Amino acid sequence: MTMIETALTKAKAGKRINFAEALALYHSNDLLELAAAARAIKERKTGSHIYYNVNRHINLTNICVSGCPLCAFGCKAEQKQAFTLEIEDVQRIVHDTIKQTPDLTEIHMVSALHPDKPFSYYVDIVRAVKQILPNIHLKAFTPVEIAHFAKIAGLSVQQVLECLKEAGLDSLPGGGAEILDDEVRKVICPNKATTQQWIEVITTAHNLGIPTNATMLYGHVETIEQRIQHLITLRDIQDQTGGFQAFVAFPFHPDHTGFEHLTRVTTWEDLKMIAISRIILDNIDHVKAFWMMLTLPIAQLSLAFGVDDLDGTVVEEKIIHAAGAKTNKGITKAEIISLVEETGNIPVERDTFYRPLSRIGGI
Ligand code: SF4
Repeated sequence: MTMIETALTKAKAGKRINFAEALALYHSNDLLELAAAARAIKERKTGSHIYYNVNRHINLTNICVSGCPLCAFGCKAEQKQAFTLEIEDVQRIVHDTIKQTPDLTEIHMVSALHPDKPFSYYVDIVRAVKQILPNIHLKAFTPVEIAHFAKIAGLSVQQVLECLKEAGLDSLPGGGAEILDDEVRKVICPNKATTQQWIEVITTAHNLGIPTNATMLYGHVETIEQRIQHLITLRDIQDQTGGFQAFVAFPFHPDHTGFEHLTRVTTWEDLKMIAISRIILDNIDHVKAFWMMLTLPIAQLSLAFGVDDLDGTVVEEKIIHAAGAKTNKGITKAEIISLVEETGNIPVERDTFYRPLSRIGGI
């Protein structure tokens, strides 16, 4: 048996594959075999259910001290696109969202690293959102933001997380992982959290009972080995903590970033990475396709490559659109349902903990 055949056989049988086998899978171009193995794993975990949720994204600010070359969202305060929401702005957005989105179950909030806002600003925002929507799940702040808060507040990561949890934070989105390799980070995001800091925030959150997602940003300066190692690092963390709810991979969008000379990876590459991720991450239950990063057609195709979650309605997205994403900034529930049904799968509306909410298949 070749190493590719061994890896596919192991994957289909629910056995863990190692680094060399994962790398061999990447070098296989039999995309349909990869899809079949990834789908077998997905079906063992979630049958033919495909999850989605009704959520609203809020970005508090795009003013950032970090200046990461990979980013088209962060800017300086004097630039014309700079914005920062004050508490009353967030309250107004939340009130408007309730009116426009009666089925809302989750607020998803990530932002840049503002140079002047104190940690108390973020705690007050969490309190304000929870005061208006006590039963809505608040998923907020990437590990990069949490590390920034610890620095500006002179607190430990654990103290920051305890404080936010006490104010009403329910989970972390897990962004900013990019590729967990400091050689790569030195090139794409030299001033933001290191690999070790990202891992420290995630494991501390998990140990405090704050679940997170796991992410990967691929298709910039990293090698395939670094992508595979990134996935294995996530798998190792999950073995220790069990705190990752879902994995989501983002293709890098180069427009308006310091890497404009690069081209966005192909659909073939997207689908291959999704399938390989599903195969490697045997201990993470859900693999999510962020349709706004992938486009709706690729997100729909990804359902045949091991994805079981199309994420949410989003409503407004600024970060990836600053980098040239051409997707809509929001989608209706009816659109998600019809995308899923067309693939022969069963759409299931979920809350953030993947508990089914409405009748299966229904609006
Ligand atoms: S990636 Fe995040 S930390 Fe880096 S510049 Fe953009 S907003 Fe700031």
